[in-house]
Amino acid sequence: MKLIRYAKGGNSCIGVVEGDDIRPLGNSDLTELMAAAPQPAGNLDSLADASVLPPLIPGKILAIGRNYAEHARELNNEVPTEPLVFAVMPSAVIGDGDVIEWEADLTAQVDWEGELAVIIGVTARRVSQADALDYVFGYTIANDVSARDLQTRDKQWVRAKGLDTFCPLGPIVATRDEIPDPQNLRIVTTVDGVVKQDGSTADMIFNVRHLIAYLSRAFTLNPGDMILTGTPAGVGKAMNPPEFLGAGSLVSVEIEGIGKLTNRCRVL
Ligand code: MG
Repeated sequence: MKLIRYAKGGNSCIGVVEGDDIRPLGNSDLTELMAAAPQPAGNLDSLADASVLPPLIPGKILAIGRNYAEHARELNNEVPTEPLVFAVMPSAVIGDGDVIEWEADLTAQVDWEGELAVIIGVTARRVSQADALDYVFGYTIANDVSARDLQTRDKQWVRAKGLDTFCPLGPIVATRDEIPDPQNLRIVTTVDGVVKQDGSTADMIFNVRHLIAYLSRAFTLNPGDMILTGTPAGVGKAMNPPEFLGAGSLVSVEIEGIGKLTNRCRVL
């Protein structure tokens, strides 16, 4: 199924995307759907008219830095020998079509990072790589928006990656059965229609199975937790001269088999 969360009658509603329509389910959020079989409820809604919400507000967001060798090299970082884990604030999450915004005197180097996001569906603790995908509910698209100046100055990345609005997600969640091989997906990021990143999840250093197994040794992964799997080469900081997002920039991340996430930027 391809799922979307949208506002309906003052509530949130999960629906199945069927062409230009949404078939509403009797579930208000994804974690509720994980615990029970989907039940169709009500008439079809129009996808074009839907007021889209973030697919979920994850319990925790575990993110992986430098998980594509070419991206590590473009920023003159060493290629990691084990996953580089950091956390992103769930309060940073926004949905498709929402505005990425920041204060001009807080950061002047806001960068894009298109990423495959993995949504956990079953509690996972110390799971094997062989079994790891059994714990996945589905996949969505993330933009791990990054304030490079804060990232450098702060030494760690809590502010740089966690500012309000800096974690656009969605709009579509492709359930696990829709994506038989998460390591064979093209991922393209554009800014104002110009291609900046054009990579493949085949090039992850640590694949989704590895990441779930690795993270589940440190943390209990609960239904509704999310893993950001890292970004391919082509971020703005690595351009010559460097490029950053500005007022009015329109940034899109598209992943084969899932969909497209688009957000405009506003500088406060
Ligand atoms: Mg990232």
